[in-house]
Amino acid sequence: MLEVKDVSAGYGVTEVLHSLSLRVEPGEVLAVCGPNGAGKSTLLKVLSRQLRATEGSVTFQGDSLLKDSPARVVERGMALCPEGRRVFPRMTTEANLQLGAYSRKDRSAIDAEIEAYLDAWPVIKRRRSSPAGLLSGGEQQILAIGRAMMSNPSLLLLDEPSLGLAPVLIDQVYEGLKSLVQSTGISVLLVEQNVVKALELCDRIAVLTDGEIVFEADAADVTADEVGSHYFEHHGEAHA
Ligand code: ADP
Repeated sequence: MLEVKDVSAGYGVTEVLHSLSLRVEPGEVLAVCGPNGAGKSTLLKVLSRQLRATEGSVTFQGDSLLKDSPARVVERGMALCPEGRRVFPRMTTEANLQLGAYSRKDRSAIDAEIEAYLDAWPVIKRRRSSPAGLLSGGEQQILAIGRAMMSNPSLLLLDEPSLGLAPVLIDQVYEGLKSLVQSTGISVLLVEQNVVKALELCDRIAVLTDGEIVFEADAADVTADEVGSHYFEHHGEAHA
């Protein structure tokens, strides 16, 4: 589904990702965890074509991605739900969902999907005509995920869905994600600092530190502590 091979990228002369490789198989949820500043968001920026890779290749459903515009990437079936539950606060909840479908023309299918989404989230449905900024933090995150889903992606890139939310809201967001994954079979690349929550959702987990993947395992085979123990590992040290 997605193959990232030896990708390097950064900002100006500063290289942040160093020859990074990973794969997401169809129907799989891969979590990429790691400390602040490790390069997780930078990876998502490269995949969504907001940032150029200086080296390496990215293949999505068999074809290279690195010449596509960000809009073309969305059309090809990869959607990014950015960090910080970025909904448009003054637009209505429903208008936020409509916006996620901007690349599509199948109006009646879009309307049916919005209704299905709202039926699954009665708290949001009650506020469909209210400004999205009036929703709680957790609801805004769920709306941001719903908006990303409106482009009908086969791969969802999720940047830190738990960021800045109270524990009870994090649970709510992850319950929503679990039912989404179960009901759609969508592939997900989840970037998350919260290893406990990531392990609840993912099939496979990788640790990114200092722009390199230093650890990878099936979620069923590891504990959160084990994953966390790799946070301060660096490739040079790991293979020394
Ligand atoms: P993470 O998502 O893992 O917290 P980021 O990908 O946001 O990490 O950041 C990785 C590194 O790149 C950090 O050292 C950060 O300071 C730097 N960085 C991120 N965005 C920019 C930018 N727009 N310009 C310059 N440096 C940046």
